[in-house]
Amino acid sequence: MLRGCVLSAAPVGEYDKRIVLLTREKGKFSGFARGARRPRSQLITCQPFAFGSFEVFEGKHSNSIVSAKISHPFTEISANLSAVWYASYFAELAGYYAAEGMEEAERIDLLYVALRALLAGKMPYPLIKLVYEFKSFVISGEYPNLFGCLSCGNLDSLAYFSYEKGGVLCSSCGDVMERRISAAALYTLQFITVTPPEKLFSFTLKQEVQMEAEGIVAGWRKRFFPHRFKSEDYLDLAEE
Ligand SMILES: [Zn+2]
Repeated sequence: MLRGCVLSAAPVGEYDKRIVLLTREKGKFSGFARGARRPRSQLITCQPFAFGSFEVFEGKHSNSIVSAKISHPFTEISANLSAVWYASYFAELAGYYAAEGMEEAERIDLLYVALRALLAGKMPYPLIKLVYEFKSFVISGEYPNLFGCLSCGNLDSLAYFSYEKGGVLCSSCGDVMERRISAAALYTLQFITVTPPEKLFSFTLKQEVQMEAEGIVAGWRKRFFPHRFKSEDYLDLAEE
């Protein structure tokens, strides 16, 4: 049994599906689900965003999903189109960053709480996205150093953000050409870095701080993960 969630489920042939799971035990796991589109199939519950445990068979040439026991189907997401777009983006991002054959417990926890946050409706969706994206970089180990000046080690007066150096610089070491970072945006990114997923989605930000942090995260992504996700086309519509 693998514990995790369905990232995508694509129809194959008349009755089957190709399913991509994100699992605690083995990271990204793709498999064929025979008969999963037959109305009476127990595998019909393998819809995107469904969390549970999955019995799998690892073949020499391909894997199969044999059965599924869904604990959190997240079907409520489909009632809200914006939530669907954001959730699809989160799932696509998880599938892109997740390793195969390696434990991905923290990434699953992050996806789970991000979907919960979309349903709770207490945090603006773009902020949920910001937190989700940045924490994904942290889980992948590709994130900026935010806790001390990269030139002199100074822990205070951190005032600049350098993509080039991969983190922050203090007010004496930073060059005026470098991007400035406000104390509030820095604190937000530090908070996301060190806080476990289950405690991440419980705050709001002033609009200008959120926009600043979004700019930094977008720049980071452009530099280290330059990939355009299909689901972003819809997100652009949601954010207009
Ligand atoms: Zn310095």
